[in-house]
Amino acid sequence: MNIILLGPPGAGKGTQAKILVAERGMVQLSTGDMLREVRASGSELGQRFGEMMDRGDLIPDGMMIEMIDARLDEPDCKNGAIFDGFPRTNAQAIALDEMLQRKSLPLKAVIELTVDEESLVGRITGRYSCAKCGAGYHEEFQRPAVPGVCDTCGHQDFKRRPDDNEATVRDRLEVYRRDTAPIIPHYEAQGLVQRVDGMAEITEVEGAVAAILDA
Ligand code: AMP
Repeated sequence: MNIILLGPPGAGKGTQAKILVAERGMVQLSTGDMLREVRASGSELGQRFGEMMDRGDLIPDGMMIEMIDARLDEPDCKNGAIFDGFPRTNAQAIALDEMLQRKSLPLKAVIELTVDEESLVGRITGRYSCAKCGAGYHEEFQRPAVPGVCDTCGHQDFKRRPDDNEATVRDRLEVYRRDTAPIIPHYEAQGLVQRVDGMAEITEVEGAVAAILDA
């Protein structure tokens, strides 16, 4: 089963994707994570991606489509893919339709996490993650049980995304409104869109997402 998680930055797509990975063995296809890996490699392409990401700009469609097309051919995707952060433009949505059809991978649902935009800036600028295992935390809403120690792996170093600062977050929200929100009608026309209140507690969101997957 393949699903798309849609919603602005900070809506909780990554959090919900990680829950589905742990509970259902699905694969999280986060284009943001893939780009951060290329960036961390220090290659020239990685540096170019990094500059665009720090401005909150989108990476060109052709590169993103190729990246996802290749990733979907890896064997783990047979267990079901969660698209997290892709598609982000109309061209990506159309390319994904074609790709899924060509690879005989049906799309079960497009889950839109709806949020109150004003809360997003605080949600994003307060978040950080374990530098070793990637477990996510928040200064206010989700602190580790022992301050400064990762609940999951015990590591004591944490990191923040360079694009999680207020100025870039505002640009990313604007890009979402301009380029990504307009793809929702594309999926509404296919009867695939299901809305979930992304402002609810994580476990409530998890329950609503599970109900959609099990329907
Ligand atoms: P995310 O981790 O999904 O918030 O993505 C971080 C950044 O990576 C975005 O602000 C974009 O610069 C870039 N990015 C991630 N996914 C895409 C995509 N599907 N298309 C274009 N750019 C992307």
